[in-house]
Amino acid sequence: MSLRGTTFLESVLQTLKRAIELGGYPQEAYEMLSRPQRIVTVNIPVKMDNGKIQIFTGYRVQHNNALGPYKGGIRFHPEVTLEEDIALATVMTFKNSLNGLPYGGGKGAIAVDYKKLSKRELEELSRGYARALAPFIGPEVDIPAPDVGTDPQIMAWMVDEYSKMTGHNVPGVFTAKPVILWGNPVREYSTGFGVAVWAREAAKKLWGGIEGKTVAIQGFGNVGYWGAYWLEKMGAKVVAITDSRGGVYNPSGLKLAEVKAVKDKTSTVMNYESSGTRKVTNDEVLELPVDILVPAALENVIHKGNANNIKAKLIVEGANGPTTADAEKVLHTKGVWILPDLAANAGGVVMSYLEWVEDLQWYFWDEEETRNRLERILLDTFNRVMNRWNKLGMSQVTIREAAYVEAVDRIYNAMKVRGWI
Ligand code: NAD
Repeated sequence: MSLRGTTFLESVLQTLKRAIELGGYPQEAYEMLSRPQRIVTVNIPVKMDNGKIQIFTGYRVQHNNALGPYKGGIRFHPEVTLEEDIALATVMTFKNSLNGLPYGGGKGAIAVDYKKLSKRELEELSRGYARALAPFIGPEVDIPAPDVGTDPQIMAWMVDEYSKMTGHNVPGVFTAKPVILWGNPVREYSTGFGVAVWAREAAKKLWGGIEGKTVAIQGFGNVGYWGAYWLEKMGAKVVAITDSRGGVYNPSGLKLAEVKAVKDKTSTVMNYESSGTRKVTNDEVLELPVDILVPAALENVIHKGNANNIKAKLIVEGANGPTTADAEKVLHTKGVWILPDLAANAGGVVMSYLEWVEDLQWYFWDEEETRNRLERILLDTFNRVMNRWNKLGMSQVTIREAAYVEAVDRIYNAMKVRGWI
């Protein structure tokens, strides 16, 4: 238990326990799913620009592969811990299952402040991680992708390193690669696109549509920016955006393209100025009087200390694990809809799946066809989760719990026919 209440892993396990009860699955299912199948720890030496060797510790948590190869991102962040990586890998198992993908769940991490590394040091670290993990990954074994602090360039170095080791090109071992290296243009914005699709569908149910609804977004990286982009395109009004230093709020709406230009030029949205715009902190942005709140940075930002101050009626979890279990209880009682991470931010992994299918068959769809395939899968998941939520009782059960029951159902049946439980 942390000062903010339950930790991310505790929250995930609490939800799993509840889903097992709600779905009437046996205790063995909880025993299997509450712990990872394998944890790989690697220590990677990197020769730094000053000539000294620095050792970086990394992990790859392979949580469950009942439905197929492990799949999940790699996070580069100074504060990553093994416990956090286990929680993220666990969520991936449920996210992949929920979205009907033929994947289990995994997640990797290296405790590093990548901003302090030179490009050469970052490349050496990325290649070192791929080399160290090579015996444990592969297109039919475990397929990593980017997460916080990693990007397509890093995937390119990793796929290159892995391909050198195997002696031939292996495109399907990492996803979200640059387009020129067997990637797909949709991957860049797919998670944000998924956030917006989920927000739009929920808004239709709540208000009859998303047009004109106000949105506050915490985080202006891949998910935050592209989420804002697609939400704006779908007719919502983005009024607040922050990055790690804080951000800006304008009740009449922000001009996204201008905010992005300031971020690109000065590396923070804080420098954006226009009439009616004021600064907000990362705590304040969560409590603004908006219709829709999109936490798209880090976990545990909505906790029991601030849950009561949240005014949005719809929370769309762009980030993984932004809401603690205690906070969710408070918000559910208040009638707030929380679209959970494993559903709302699944656009990235669903797109990764499509990229992997392309890579395995060495045949590539165009952007529009790929985006249509992505949207179809997202809408199918949305409808299944809403049906399950209805059946379980919308006031007794959270959307997350309904999504978990839906996810556990597939994994449980796969484990059962395999004879694991
Ligand atoms: P990113 O590195 O591109 O962006 C992260 C953003 O968060 C940046 O704007 C950064 O300034 C901000 N940030 C960092 N520390 C912060 C803090 N303490 N308070 C507020 N903001 C802070 O990362 P991303 O890929 O956009 O991922 C964001 C979240 O979405 C993570 O939880 C990640 O696991 C999740 N996610 C990402 C993807 C994906 O495809 N990129 C897919 C699913 C889930």
